Amino acid sequence: MKQVDVPVLICGAGGCGLGLTILLADLGVHSLAVERNAQTTDHPRAHILNTRTLEIFRQHGLADEVYRQGTPTAGMERISFRTSLGGDGPLDRQLIGNLDGYGGGALRARYEADSACRATNLPLMQLEPLLRAAAEQRAPGGTRFHHELVSFEQDEAGVTSRIHDHDSGEEYMVRSRYLIAADGGKTVGRALGAEMEGPRHLRKMVNTYFVGDLSSWIDDDGVLIYYFINPDGRGQWAGGGLVKTGPTRWDRHSESWVFMRELSPDDSDEMDEINVVARMRELLRLPESFQPEVRKIGRWDVQGVVAKKYRFGRVLLAGDAAHRHPPVSALGLNTAFGDVHNLAWKLALVLDGQAPDALLETYESERQPVGARVAEWALHGFRMRSLIDQSIGLAPGQTEANRKAFERLYSDTPGGATARAILAEAMNIQRIGPQAHDMEIGYAYEHGALVPDGTQLPARDPMAGIYYPVTRPGSRLPHAVLERAGRCLGTHDLVRPGAWTLFCHRARWRAATRAAANVTGIAIDVVVIGGQGDYQDVEGSWKRLCQINSGGAVLVRPDTHVAWRSKDIPVRPAAALEDAIKIALKR
Ligand SMILES: Cc1cc2nc3c(=O)[nH]c(=O)nc-3n(C[C@H](O)[C@H](O)[C@H](O)COP(=O)(O)OP(=O)(O)OC[C@H]3O[C@@H](n4cnc5c(N)ncnc54)[C@H](O)[C@@H]3O)c2cc1C
Repeated sequence: MKQVDVPVLICGAGGCGLGLTILLADLGVHSLAVERNAQTTDHPRAHILNTRTLEIFRQHGLADEVYRQGTPTAGMERISFRTSLGGDGPLDRQLIGNLDGYGGGALRARYEADSACRATNLPLMQLEPLLRAAAEQRAPGGTRFHHELVSFEQDEAGVTSRIHDHDSGEEYMVRSRYLIAADGGKTVGRALGAEMEGPRHLRKMVNTYFVGDLSSWIDDDGVLIYYFINPDGRGQWAGGGLVKTGPTRWDRHSESWVFMRELSPDDSDEMDEINVVARMRELLRLPESFQPEVRKIGRWDVQGVVAKKYRFGRVLLAGDAAHRHPPVSALGLNTAFGDVHNLAWKLALVLDGQAPDALLETYESERQPVGARVAEWALHGFRMRSLIDQSIGLAPGQTEANRKAFERLYSDTPGGATARAILAEAMNIQRIGPQAHDMEIGYAYEHGALVPDGTQLPARDPMAGIYYPVTRPGSRLPHAVLERAGRCLGTHDLVRPGAWTLFCHRARWRAATRAAANVTGIAIDVVVIGGQGDYQDVEGSWKRLCQINSGGAVLVRPDTHVAWRSKDIPVRPAAALEDAIKIALKR
């Protein structure tokens, strides 16, 4: 049987597998991604790409195209809770509440201070082709669609996988040093018996992706997601959600939309198009004349699971293969990109012989706690959704009682005023979904490819609305604006793919860095800020955030997380830097 040899085999070319392919290609690592489907997804699924993902995309030259295709700021200012889109009854088209989201509205100034990148919204069925094109351009022949991994075996030196080519009907073997499961949890983890912790089967949902003109019923171009709660809804989520999916207009004239709703136990024709459209019209109070063109109906289960282990010898799990949770704060694919950003440079160094295999242990010790926290967070957010129904006094399926509860809510009575005040509190807690700024960019690693400096873990906002920038080893490099020759750049712009970067204030670090690079073989870019340095801290933001004195330095890894810092200049700076690199790389 034919055998292909490649350093890294990736099972699955969804967002996670394609992302890893691109990042590895940028680091000069050959990989092969096999995808059992013939094409990228035809379902929108993931929508929101957060600030951190756009930082990763910017580092790898993907951000401009994603912004070009994605939703502009004006189209994603807030999310809105309503009773319906249409209808002219007393309870129709009522506003239940609005929430600024994903850096829009009143959140903007804070988000802009914390990152050079804003979030955007680009449905997965538009993002995947973009990533596929980039992957094929950077790694020609490195992605094979309609090729399925059917089995694999690992030994001490590598992994041997059997691949079925669905076009030719032939099978071939792939021998790789590592196998990355980016398969959404469908194949590799199951074969390994990977233990997933957390609740499953919390809800059954159905998404309907359709083309249709809703412009006569939409009154706010800045709303990205609508949630509907009305007397006819059958419990949490049951009123449904509506997300605009463009692809060219991102206002009320969006050409396509996704409507999501919970399946009720008595929905026997759940996937039937006529049934799905009729139910959508009923819940949104749209007339018969609204005839959407349904493109896809998809079912998904709400769950909140995370793999206990991300590493099984030469096999590593990433993306949905490692963590699957409610999309409340849109952290699914975004966390997958965090996984591959963490993994790519480590694989590159290990495959190049510059770091031992033990460096890959740090992928699990750094990313598993992030996955676990994200899943826990998303479950909190998911549960909080029922508070809206509870605050209004809604009970699943009790249409008449629910109608009375709504009438009370909008009544000019003391009971109505109390209900509205309680609802306002319940609405406020919903910020856990679209305002999870610190969950998006504030995650830090406690144990891994870093040198702890003995400082305590700083406090974090338990509601994740506020992100506190720090340079403590393990943290994401804070964003600061620097100027060079009249041009403004963010600190993240100075960390090239695959490069280590030392941020300091004294030119003396240059010689020390050269010496450490010679000994360790790790090239390090030096960014000298202030004085006679290359970059000026014109806004003073670096000084405010760097947490080092004028002689100190911050060593940043290729994934823009801090590996080491020294508050002041050490007696032997070259030796200190050399030690730091060796410790971080587990040499
Ligand atoms: C309604 C909804 C809304 C969401 N919104 C957001 C959002 O706004 N933002 C966000 O970040 N996330 C969101 N998510 C989550 C997001 O969609 C997922 O986290 C993400 O798409 C997972 O990507 P992945 O590549 O890890 O897995 P998948 O997309 O599942 O890709 C895995 C791929 O592996 C392939 N595969 C499996 N087995 C094999 C095999 N044996 N051989 C070859 N190929 C194989 C599959 O065919 C598949 O293409 C949402 C999810 C849902 C359901």
